[in-house]
Amino acid sequence: MSESCLFCKIVRKEIPASIVLENEHVVAFRDIDPKAPTHVLVVPREHIATLNDVTDAAMVGHLMLAAAEIARAEGIAESGYRSVVNCGADGGQTVFHVHVHVLGGRTLNWPPG
Ligand code: 5GP
Ligand code: ZN
Repeated sequence: MSESCLFCKIVRKEIPASIVLENEHVVAFRDIDPKAPTHVLVVPREHIATLNDVTDAAMVGHLMLAAAEIARAEGIAESGYRSVVNCGADGGQTVFHVHVHVLGGRTLNWPPG
């Protein structure tokens, strides 16, 4: 747990978020500045800064299974979606509590910018 971390505060319900799924491992909530019709962030309850700091393979599994569950609940599982983890400066990471973006509801470009 990190006192000052934004996503830890959302996990602890100290700041509001539109939560779409939570279980003992992860919390998922809508991005405040959505980049697609569906844009949900899935975070582990535990504070881990970046993908470089992840050591728990099961935790990654819980994040990705939650991403797929959210896609089904949002109705984008069949049309398709993207699950991405931005890591570090060049990866575009701005919040240093590891998270999976779940984006869908429109055709996404590839390669990303
Ligand atoms: P990153 O750039 O680190 O991969 O993604 C961070 C995401 O967190 C961004 O898409 C940004 O819009 C989102 N975000 C930043 N602050 C907040 C917030 O206070 N609430 C929510 N729900 N999302 C946030
Ligand atoms: Zn955190």
